[in-house]
Amino acid sequence: MNPPQFLSREETQAWEPDRTFPERGGFRERLVGRLKEAGLWTDFQVAGRRWAMGCGAVEITQRCNLDCTLCYLSEHAEAVRDVPLGEIFRRIEAIRRHYGPFTDVQVTGGDPTLRKRGELVQIVRRIHDLGMRPSLFTNGIRATRELLTELTRNGLVDVAFHVDMTQERKGFGSEAELNRVRLEYIERARGLPLSIIFNTTVFADNFAEIPDVVAFFRAHADVVDMCSFQLQAETGRGVLRKRGEVITRDSVAAQISRGAGRRLNFGVPTVGHPECNQYAICLEAGGNLYNLFEESGFFAAVFARTAGMMLDRRNKWRALGALLRALLANPALWPGGLSWLARKSREMGRDVLRARGRVNKLSFFIHNFMDADQLDRERCRTCVFMVAGADGPISMCVFNARRDAEILRPLPQVTGNGLWYPLPEPVTAPSPVGNPPPLPISAHRPPKWLRGRTRKMALENQKRVGL
Ligand code: SF4
Repeated sequence: MNPPQFLSREETQAWEPDRTFPERGGFRERLVGRLKEAGLWTDFQVAGRRWAMGCGAVEITQRCNLDCTLCYLSEHAEAVRDVPLGEIFRRIEAIRRHYGPFTDVQVTGGDPTLRKRGELVQIVRRIHDLGMRPSLFTNGIRATRELLTELTRNGLVDVAFHVDMTQERKGFGSEAELNRVRLEYIERARGLPLSIIFNTTVFADNFAEIPDVVAFFRAHADVVDMCSFQLQAETGRGVLRKRGEVITRDSVAAQISRGAGRRLNFGVPTVGHPECNQYAICLEAGGNLYNLFEESGFFAAVFARTAGMMLDRRNKWRALGALLRALLANPALWPGGLSWLARKSREMGRDVLRARGRVNKLSFFIHNFMDADQLDRERCRTCVFMVAGADGPISMCVFNARRDAEILRPLPQVTGNGLWYPLPEPVTAPSPVGNPPPLPISAHRPPKWLRGRTRKMALENQKRVGL
């Protein structure tokens, strides 16, 4: 890992997406090469080993029915028309051609449930038909049981609910109170063949409550599969800006461990750049959590021997069966496997008995997004979360930092001639990277279309003139 070198504004605007498709199915080689250059190709690295890319995100609308205080979207988002379906399909196909089958594809926005329902279903279906794994990223407000059921029938693999205090949902005064919303979402998805993820943005007002949130997930480990914590970053239209010193990767990991009731091992596996991502996978029995992985030669060998193996997140028995078959097929792994099993039995035995053999998996992820004006070149280069842009997939942090330039540009029509325009009227110059934008074009629109800092300014103006 090298000391950070930050991109200038011009370099951010000029940062190249992945344009060239890999030859002869060598999907992983590009990422492996980048990780090797950065000295990040270790025995515990799953990027480039288990998959060619952590995920490709497809933003199917810019609109949202909330206004988070830490939103990465643009001030113009509510005015931007939904990208035509043909262009969305073209971007999905680009993800497939760049990163291959089984790639996780985030169907996101804005809130993707605001897109026409029939189109949302077609998008999920298209990802599934191309042999990739669609995930719905939503605030959950419109993600009814009925919608989730229909999407599941069309191939949806995960639903990721974003719930936290940055959303300012009415009637909730703390993260702990928001557990009512989380529980409602759990019940909506319970029993569907879906992996359930919860996203939580970490900021000063909920940092102290992380252990309580983790305790809630721990109590629902029979249904919840992963809890992801995103650290506050200064990017997009949100009214909150830079994070305070208290919020770091390590301090958030410590808070999660507090809620987990033990020190979680965020060192194994490694996912891309360790400054970006930290991942701990646990087993839960009788309400207690235990680290699944440890830094040992056994797990290094397991990662090497099971590279490229895709596990079915929707069915833990199928996933476990596939892992066991891989272990049985590799006699060299048997001694290490048996000694791990003996250690885990000693550690967890009593809880497993108490839970009558019921053991669940619960994972914790920390995603350390970067500020728009503090993009570390090495982290952008080894990025494992890409957004499908018009010119090809590009690092999510870079995309967010130059979002206006990405979403406000006219696009060639996929079918027919001429250009498709995202706004019904000409656009002013894009907002400068990392700086508060000038009053954007959206400010001249009806108040219900305003979000983020523009809304705040409009409300302050209204107050001043006594409206
Ligand atoms: S999106 Fe940003 S923080 Fe996440 S992996 Fe990519 S560069 Fe790192």
